[in-house]
Amino acid sequence: MDADKLRQILQKRGLKATQQRLTLLEYLMTHETHPTAEMIHKDLSDISLATIYNTLEKLVEVKLVAIIEGVSDGKRHYDYFGDPHYHIINTKTEEIIDADNFDPTVLLQAAREASGLNITDYRIEVYGVDPKDAK
Ligand SMILES: [Zn+2]
Repeated sequence: MDADKLRQILQKRGLKATQQRLTLLEYLMTHETHPTAEMIHKDLSDISLATIYNTLEKLVEVKLVAIIEGVSDGKRHYDYFGDPHYHIINTKTEEIIDADNFDPTVLLQAAREASGLNITDYRIEVYGVDPKDAK
């Protein structure tokens, strides 16, 4: 992916375009595997695991990357989140499926009415099993 474009994405969110951030951002944008930090480290072994965690934390802070929890392996999975979407987790295979055909307006409106808060963010994880496996 074009390094200038990656740099712009980071700068738009107020982050300096360090080499690690560029590398991790590109990795997550080009891998739709919802990896854990360890999985990323396996592919990018010249970056230390600690640096990967720190860099991911920064990217999560500015909402470029989302954390997916609740997978039955108990680990945090990471995902490029420049284009918001939600996740469906197959609880049997632990597969994480991307889905964006959902309008969250009703939910966000209800949350605002219930709490009086300005809703700034949301995260939805839906769980399921293959009907073939659910006997
Ligand atoms: Zn995703």
